[in-house]
Amino acid sequence: MLAGYEVVKGNDAGSFTGGGRKLVLHTTEGSSANGAIGAYRANNSWPHFTISYKEQRKIQHLETNVASRALQNNMSDGFQTNRANCVQVEIVGFAKNAWTKEEMDWYAQRFLEIRGSFYFPLNFLGSERLNDKQFVDYSGICGHKNVPDNNHSDPGNQDLAYIISRMGAVPTVPESEVFKVKNFEGAIVKVQTGNNGNGYKDIRLSKDGLMFCGFGWIGSSSKGLAVAVQNLGDSTYRVGVEGAPGAYVISVNVLFGER
Ligand SMILES: [Zn+2]
Repeated sequence: MLAGYEVVKGNDAGSFTGGGRKLVLHTTEGSSANGAIGAYRANNSWPHFTISYKEQRKIQHLETNVASRALQNNMSDGFQTNRANCVQVEIVGFAKNAWTKEEMDWYAQRFLEIRGSFYFPLNFLGSERLNDKQFVDYSGICGHKNVPDNNHSDPGNQDLAYIISRMGAVPTVPESEVFKVKNFEGAIVKVQTGNNGNGYKDIRLSKDGLMFCGFGWIGSSSKGLAVAVQNLGDSTYRVGVEGAPGAYVISVNVLFGER
């Protein structure tokens, strides 16, 4: 169990059966951790973790090397959900409420703590629901709303780009374009994957402190992709891509400011 976490033991769903390493986010659709734990008990729907910003509570229910039970799974389709290398976090609150920056900063710290015992890459998905194979193969952060065999929409439309930027997602393509611009406010970055080659995507970046991320889909690879712009100082920025092996930056068009 993680240091500094309360322990309220739950039931697991057995061993992991393989797939990309995923952090699956939920919202409890309630206002307290204790209320959520009562629901897990009643429904046998335990996640690995429950975290509550308002109550400043972080609770662990299961070790991160066994599967939890917060997802539905269609046993007859041959694909797993809970057991597909998912560590699941229930966040106290409602999917309809957008998280504040203060909440997201706190969640980012909790996700880093979890990532210390269960590594997952710093990328994420949009709102589409994956099919069974896409889900098993996916690695990174996703929501209940992305999971096949499930119809829930939690955790809602949250700013995961901001969260992974707070988790330290940084450009990972060393040969990425370096550009100089005064009064930088935003950019459109065109990227392409090297592995299937058929996807181009314009990703819109907005300014948010020293480092900020955009998000996009690349062709048919269905991989979440984060583009980060890092301020190197002296009006120089580096653009990089995290989340899709082989993805690279084609061009950077600055929206505001002078290049
Ligand atoms: Zn859920």
